[in-house]
Amino acid sequence: MTESIVLFGPPGAGKGTQAGRIVELTGKPQISTGDMLRAAVKAGSPMGLAAKEYMDAGLLVSDEVIIGLIEERLQNDDAGQGVLFDGFPRTIPQAESLEEIATVSSVISIEVPDDAIVDRIVGRRMDPETGEIYHVSFKPAPTEIQDRLVQRPDDTEETVRARLGAYHTQTAPLADWYSERGLLIRIDGDASIEQVGASVEEAIASIS
Ligand code: AMP
Repeated sequence: MTESIVLFGPPGAGKGTQAGRIVELTGKPQISTGDMLRAAVKAGSPMGLAAKEYMDAGLLVSDEVIIGLIEERLQNDDAGQGVLFDGFPRTIPQAESLEEIATVSSVISIEVPDDAIVDRIVGRRMDPETGEIYHVSFKPAPTEIQDRLVQRPDDTEETVRARLGAYHTQTAPLADWYSERGLLIRIDGDASIEQVGASVEEAIASIS
């Protein structure tokens, strides 16, 4: 069993942005269930089409589908030295299943209050060519690439509110679950990308 890290937090906390830094620091590959589901939607697979309905509504995809994706992904050779889970686990049953297949050595929780999240998500844009995430006010993209930026279909205000609801009822209880196991490292995510990045680096240094 290998030692993995979980990046935990509400939608829009900056998990995707900070994941890159953790990958650089640890060499562990990032496994984002959100990215895997979006790839399945794009490929038009039956699983992707079924998942899309839940994603568009801001609801969680079933634990069974998610655990299947993770089990398959962990078979890849690059997962041998542990991975960085981003956006997984999101329910207690997912965390229980994860215990059976991988060892989690720490959980970095990026904490952001709800009222900051809606602005963050609704202004979020992605460069489809590089995967880089920007924000119309907090991290504007260079002018020359602005025309090609895309917005995620579930990044509307209405869907964000549903995603926050799912987070509070189904995902937030995992913070206590991991805290009871002595694995939770809390980071203040209500700060600039650089400040949050510095806290993430400190957290990684404390566990390496
Ligand atoms: P994310 O990119 O992590 O915000 O995920 C986008 C959407 O994919 C979520 O709103 C859920 O519908 C779905 N999703 C991603 N990861 C999970 C997961 N671990 N469990 C259930 N649903 C997920």
